[in-house]
Amino acid sequence: MNPFDGYRISSPYGPRKDPFTGQPVHHTGIDLVKFHQAPIYAFMPGMVVHAREGLVGTGFGGFGNVVAIKDSCGAIQFYAHLDSTAVKVGQQIMAGQMIGRQGTTGRSTGSHLHFEVRLKSTPSYGYGTDTNPGVYLERFMPNVKELGKVEGAKINMDKKDADKIILFLSAAYGATASKDAQAEFHRLANELRKASGQAVQ
Ligand SMILES: [Zn+2]
Repeated sequence: MNPFDGYRISSPYGPRKDPFTGQPVHHTGIDLVKFHQAPIYAFMPGMVVHAREGLVGTGFGGFGNVVAIKDSCGAIQFYAHLDSTAVKVGQQIMAGQMIGRQGTTGRSTGSHLHFEVRLKSTPSYGYGTDTNPGVYLERFMPNVKELGKVEGAKINMDKKDADKIILFLSAAYGATASKDAQAEFHRLANELRKASGQAVQ
């Protein structure tokens, strides 16, 4: 399984020449390219802990617009040089959810995604604790669906609100809807029931 399916790798993790100075440096993440402003989807689920320009001294200086997600192992995954961010701090993210768009903000020579995994989240968002992101994802991605379910289970919805939405959906789908639409309504209604602690039907 290739965790970076759909991307061209423009610079791998590990030793390389600094693209600005030509000096040998350690590349703390992997550089991935789709196209400028391509939607970027989260590789792993977790909670958003940063979603704006990374300022010098914070652990994200020079990385431009950064979305950082803390996974259930306590590691930080971050998506750098984004053109724009599409999530908010505190938000729970599922794997595959769009978190922003590919860009070239910060210290960057062209539009790409710098993706980095840090094994610690403090201090400075785990600066200096980076690990090979491909190896990390290959290890955890087979379990991502399960992790996603665990994260999803944290949704806590009021029973009254859930029932209101179910009623609204029921009207929207209607009795004349196709079998597929009826099945989809049934699935959505049960997700809402689960989220509000009710028995599925
Ligand atoms: Zn990079």
